Amino acid sequence: IIITPDEFKRVSEAAREDGRAPDEIRPLKIEAGILERADGSSYLELGGNKILVAVYGPREAQIKRLQRPDRAVIRCRYNMAPFSVEERKRPGPDRRSVEISKITAEALRPALILEKFPRSVIDVFIEVLEAEGGTRCAGITAASVALADAGMPMKDMVVACAAGKVNGRIVLDLSEEEDKRGEADIPVAILPRNKEITLLQSDGNLTQEEFEEALDLAIKGCLKINKIQKEALKRKYGE
Ligand code: UDP
Repeated sequence: IIITPDEFKRVSEAAREDGRAPDEIRPLKIEAGILERADGSSYLELGGNKILVAVYGPREAQIKRLQRPDRAVIRCRYNMAPFSVEERKRPGPDRRSVEISKITAEALRPALILEKFPRSVIDVFIEVLEAEGGTRCAGITAASVALADAGMPMKDMVVACAAGKVNGRIVLDLSEEEDKRGEADIPVAILPRNKEITLLQSDGNLTQEEFEEALDLAIKGCLKINKIQKEALKRKYGE
Protein backbone atom coordinates (compact mmCIF):
# COMPACT_ATOMS: atom_id res chain seq x y z
CA ILE A 1 0.00 0.00 0.00
CA ILE A 2 1.33 3.41 -0.93
CA ILE A 3 0.20 6.41 1.11
CA THR A 4 1.01 10.04 0.58
CA PRO A 5 3.09 11.92 3.18
CA ASP A 6 -0.05 13.86 4.14
CA GLU A 7 -2.00 10.66 4.76
CA PHE A 8 0.89 9.24 6.73
CA LYS A 9 0.96 12.38 8.89
CA ARG A 10 -2.80 12.20 9.46
CA VAL A 11 -2.73 8.51 10.45
CA SER A 12 0.31 8.82 12.69
CA GLU A 13 -1.18 11.81 14.52
CA ALA A 14 -4.60 10.25 15.04
CA ALA A 15 -3.48 7.97 17.84
CA ARG A 16 -1.34 8.97 20.80
CA GLU A 17 2.07 7.42 21.33
CA ASP A 18 0.60 4.73 23.60
CA GLY A 19 -2.31 4.15 21.20
CA ARG A 20 -4.93 5.93 23.30
CA ALA A 21 -7.76 8.04 21.89
CA PRO A 22 -7.63 11.75 22.85
CA ASP A 23 -10.36 11.28 25.48
CA GLU A 24 -9.05 8.00 26.91
CA ILE A 25 -7.47 7.64 30.35
CA ARG A 26 -4.69 5.15 31.06
CA PRO A 27 -5.67 1.76 32.53
CA LEU A 28 -6.87 2.41 36.09
CA LYS A 29 -7.19 0.11 39.11
CA ILE A 30 -8.19 1.16 42.61
CA GLU A 31 -8.38 -0.95 45.75
CA ALA A 32 -9.75 0.23 49.10
CA GLY A 33 -8.59 -0.78 52.57
CA ILE A 34 -5.35 -2.67 52.10
CA LEU A 35 -3.34 -1.57 55.14
CA GLU A 36 -4.15 -3.12 58.54
CA ARG A 37 -2.83 -0.39 60.82
CA ALA A 38 -4.16 2.66 59.05
CA ASP A 39 -7.74 3.83 59.71
CA GLY A 40 -8.23 4.02 55.97
CA SER A 41 -6.13 3.16 52.96
CA SER A 42 -6.10 2.68 49.23
CA TYR A 43 -3.86 1.52 46.41
CA LEU A 44 -4.10 2.95 42.91
CA GLU A 45 -2.49 2.14 39.58
CA LEU A 46 -2.94 4.51 36.67
CA GLY A 47 -0.77 3.57 33.70
CA GLY A 48 2.71 3.41 35.19
CA ASN A 49 1.76 5.19 38.43
CA LYS A 50 1.62 3.12 41.60
CA ILE A 51 0.38 5.00 44.65
CA LEU A 52 -0.40 3.94 48.21
CA VAL A 53 -2.42 6.13 50.58
CA ALA A 54 -2.80 5.77 54.35
CA VAL A 55 -5.23 7.84 56.41
CA TYR A 56 -5.02 8.23 60.20
CA GLY A 57 -7.79 9.88 62.18
CA PRO A 58 -9.79 11.84 62.85
CA ARG A 59 -7.85 11.75 66.13
CA GLU A 60 -7.19 14.31 68.84
CA ALA A 61 -4.55 16.79 67.74
CA GLN A 62 -1.63 16.38 70.14
CA ILE A 63 -0.04 19.65 69.07
CA LYS A 64 -1.91 22.61 70.62
CA ARG A 65 -1.33 24.98 67.70
CA LEU A 66 -3.04 22.50 65.35
CA GLN A 67 -6.25 22.35 67.38
CA ARG A 68 -9.30 24.23 66.11
CA PRO A 69 -12.16 24.53 68.63
CA ASP A 70 -14.85 24.04 65.97
CA ARG A 71 -13.46 21.55 63.48
CA ALA A 72 -10.84 19.02 62.46
CA VAL A 73 -7.75 19.93 60.47
CA ILE A 74 -6.56 17.90 57.46
CA ARG A 75 -2.83 17.44 56.88
CA CYS A 76 -1.43 15.83 53.72
CA ARG A 77 2.01 14.56 52.92
CA TYR A 78 2.78 13.71 49.30
CA ASN A 79 6.02 11.78 49.06
CA MET A 80 7.87 10.20 46.16
CA ALA A 81 9.92 7.11 46.91
CA PRO A 82 13.60 7.46 45.88
CA PHE A 83 13.08 4.56 43.45
CA SER A 84 9.81 5.91 41.98
CA VAL A 85 11.37 7.79 39.06
CA GLU A 86 13.98 7.21 36.39
CA GLU A 87 16.59 9.39 38.06
CA ARG A 88 16.77 8.62 41.81
CA LYS A 89 14.65 11.10 43.78
CA ARG A 90 16.53 12.55 46.75
CA PRO A 91 14.57 11.44 49.86
CA GLY A 92 12.70 14.05 51.86
CA PRO A 93 10.50 17.03 51.05
CA ASP A 94 11.39 19.38 48.21
CA ARG A 95 9.59 22.41 46.75
CA ARG A 96 7.47 20.24 44.47
CA SER A 97 6.29 17.78 47.14
CA VAL A 98 5.51 20.60 49.60
CA GLU A 99 3.41 22.28 46.92
CA ILE A 100 1.59 19.06 45.98
CA SER A 101 0.93 18.28 49.67
CA LYS A 102 -0.63 21.73 50.09
CA ILE A 103 -2.84 21.65 46.99
CA THR A 104 -3.93 18.08 47.83
CA ALA A 105 -5.19 19.14 51.28
CA GLU A 106 -6.97 22.08 49.65
CA ALA A 107 -8.55 19.84 46.99
CA LEU A 108 -9.84 17.35 49.58
CA ARG A 109 -10.98 19.76 52.31
CA PRO A 110 -14.27 20.95 50.71
CA ALA A 111 -15.57 17.35 50.66
CA LEU A 112 -14.96 16.67 54.35
CA ILE A 113 -17.42 17.37 57.16
CA LEU A 114 -14.74 18.65 59.49
CA GLU A 115 -17.12 20.29 62.00
CA LYS A 116 -17.95 16.85 63.40
CA PHE A 117 -14.49 16.51 64.93
CA PRO A 118 -13.39 19.58 66.89
CA ARG A 119 -9.75 19.70 68.06
CA SER A 120 -8.92 16.74 65.80
CA VAL A 121 -6.51 16.09 62.99
CA ILE A 122 -6.75 13.85 59.93
CA ASP A 123 -3.45 12.77 58.40
CA VAL A 124 -3.25 11.68 54.78
CA PHE A 125 -0.01 10.08 53.61
CA ILE A 126 0.40 9.71 49.85
CA GLU A 127 3.32 7.51 48.90
CA VAL A 128 4.23 7.43 45.21
CA LEU A 129 5.96 4.08 44.63
CA GLU A 130 6.28 4.53 40.88
CA ALA A 131 5.60 7.72 38.94
CA GLU A 132 4.65 8.13 35.30
CA GLY A 133 3.01 11.54 35.03
CA GLY A 134 -0.11 12.89 36.70
CA THR A 135 0.73 11.78 40.22
CA ARG A 136 -0.86 14.78 41.93
CA CYS A 137 -4.25 13.94 40.40
CA ALA A 138 -3.86 10.21 41.01
CA GLY A 139 -2.88 10.96 44.63
CA ILE A 140 -6.03 13.04 45.22
CA THR A 141 -8.24 10.35 43.65
CA ALA A 142 -6.65 7.65 45.82
CA ALA A 143 -6.71 9.82 48.98
CA SER A 144 -10.42 10.33 48.62
CA VAL A 145 -11.00 6.55 48.54
CA ALA A 146 -8.77 6.13 51.61
CA LEU A 147 -10.71 8.85 53.47
CA ALA A 148 -13.99 7.10 52.67
CA ASP A 149 -12.42 3.81 53.79
CA ALA A 150 -11.52 5.51 57.09
CA GLY A 151 -15.23 6.24 57.57
CA MET A 152 -14.71 9.98 57.32
CA PRO A 153 -18.07 11.72 56.81
CA MET A 154 -17.95 13.32 53.36
CA LYS A 155 -20.28 15.42 51.21
CA ASP A 156 -18.93 13.64 48.13
CA MET A 157 -15.81 11.96 46.81
CA VAL A 158 -13.05 14.08 45.34
CA VAL A 159 -11.70 12.98 41.99
CA ALA A 160 -8.92 14.44 39.90
CA CYS A 161 -7.68 14.16 36.34
CA ALA A 162 -5.56 16.31 34.05
CA ALA A 163 -6.03 17.30 30.44
CA GLY A 164 -3.58 19.15 28.25
CA LYS A 165 -2.25 19.91 24.81
CA VAL A 166 0.12 17.55 23.01
CA ASN A 167 1.08 18.00 19.34
CA GLY A 168 -1.52 20.73 19.04
CA ARG A 169 -4.35 18.50 20.26
CA ILE A 170 -6.30 18.55 23.53
CA VAL A 171 -5.91 15.16 25.23
CA LEU A 172 -6.92 13.55 28.52
CA ASP A 173 -4.67 12.19 31.29
CA LEU A 174 -1.18 12.97 30.01
CA SER A 175 1.54 10.36 30.47
CA GLU A 176 4.98 11.42 31.66
CA GLU A 177 6.20 11.41 28.06
CA GLU A 178 3.28 13.57 26.91
CA ASP A 179 3.74 15.89 29.88
CA LYS A 180 7.40 16.40 28.96
CA ARG A 181 6.81 16.94 25.25
CA GLY A 182 3.41 18.59 25.48
CA GLU A 183 2.52 22.25 25.28
CA ALA A 184 0.23 22.46 28.32
CA ASP A 185 -1.21 20.51 31.24
CA ILE A 186 -4.12 21.40 33.53
CA PRO A 187 -4.75 19.22 36.58
CA VAL A 188 -8.37 19.46 37.80
CA ALA A 189 -10.14 18.07 40.88
CA ILE A 190 -13.91 18.14 41.37
CA LEU A 191 -16.67 16.99 43.67
CA PRO A 192 -18.46 14.93 41.00
CA ARG A 193 -22.00 15.42 42.27
CA ASN A 194 -22.18 19.20 41.89
CA LYS A 195 -18.99 19.55 39.79
CA GLU A 196 -17.50 22.01 42.26
CA ILE A 197 -13.86 22.53 41.27
CA THR A 198 -11.44 22.09 44.18
CA LEU A 199 -8.19 22.13 42.22
CA LEU A 200 -7.30 23.90 38.99
CA GLN A 201 -3.70 24.38 38.00
CA SER A 202 -2.21 25.30 34.68
CA ASP A 203 1.21 24.69 33.25
CA GLY A 204 1.98 25.93 29.72
CA ASN A 205 0.03 28.03 27.26
CA LEU A 206 -3.53 27.54 25.99
CA THR A 207 -5.92 29.85 24.18
CA GLN A 208 -9.21 30.50 25.94
CA GLU A 209 -10.99 27.98 23.65
CA GLU A 210 -8.31 25.36 24.23
CA PHE A 211 -8.48 25.96 27.97
CA GLU A 212 -12.26 25.48 27.98
CA GLU A 213 -11.97 22.32 25.88
CA ALA A 214 -9.29 20.95 28.22
CA LEU A 215 -11.33 21.78 31.32
CA ASP A 216 -14.41 20.05 29.88
CA LEU A 217 -12.34 17.00 28.96
CA ALA A 218 -10.70 16.86 32.41
CA ILE A 219 -14.15 16.96 34.05
CA LYS A 220 -15.32 14.10 31.79
CA GLY A 221 -12.21 12.17 32.83
CA CYS A 222 -13.01 12.84 36.49
CA LEU A 223 -16.52 11.42 36.07
CA LYS A 224 -15.13 8.20 34.52
CA ILE A 225 -12.60 7.86 37.33
CA ASN A 226 -15.29 8.49 39.94
CA LYS A 227 -17.10 5.33 38.75
CA ILE A 228 -13.96 3.31 39.45
CA GLN A 229 -13.58 4.92 42.90
CA LYS A 230 -17.14 3.90 43.74
CA GLU A 231 -16.58 0.35 42.45
CA ALA A 232 -13.52 0.02 44.69
CA LEU A 233 -15.58 0.98 47.75
CA LYS A 234 -18.46 -1.30 46.70
CA ARG A 235 -16.06 -4.24 46.38
CA LYS A 236 -14.92 -3.65 49.95
CA TYR A 237 -18.23 -2.71 51.58
CA GLY A 238 -20.93 -3.99 49.22
CA GLU A 239 -23.76 -1.75 48.10
N1 UDP B 1 9.10 13.30 37.85
C1 UDP B 1 10.39 12.80 37.92
N2 UDP B 1 11.21 13.23 38.94
C2 UDP B 1 10.81 14.15 39.87
C3 UDP B 1 9.50 14.65 39.77
C4 UDP B 1 8.67 14.21 38.75
O1 UDP B 1 10.79 11.98 37.11
O2 UDP B 1 11.58 14.51 40.78
C5 UDP B 1 8.21 12.79 36.78
C6 UDP B 1 7.13 11.89 37.35
O3 UDP B 1 6.85 10.83 36.48
C7 UDP B 1 5.94 12.81 37.42
C8 UDP B 1 6.17 13.64 36.16
O4 UDP B 1 7.56 13.85 36.13
O5 UDP B 1 4.73 12.12 37.43
C9 UDP B 1 5.41 14.94 36.10
O6 UDP B 1 5.66 15.68 37.23
P1 UDP B 1 4.79 16.94 37.63
O7 UDP B 1 5.61 17.81 38.55
O8 UDP B 1 4.17 17.56 36.43
O9 UDP B 1 3.63 16.33 38.57
P2 UDP B 1 2.53 15.23 38.26
O10 UDP B 1 2.24 15.27 36.79
O11 UDP B 1 3.10 13.91 38.70
O12 UDP B 1 1.36 15.64 39.07
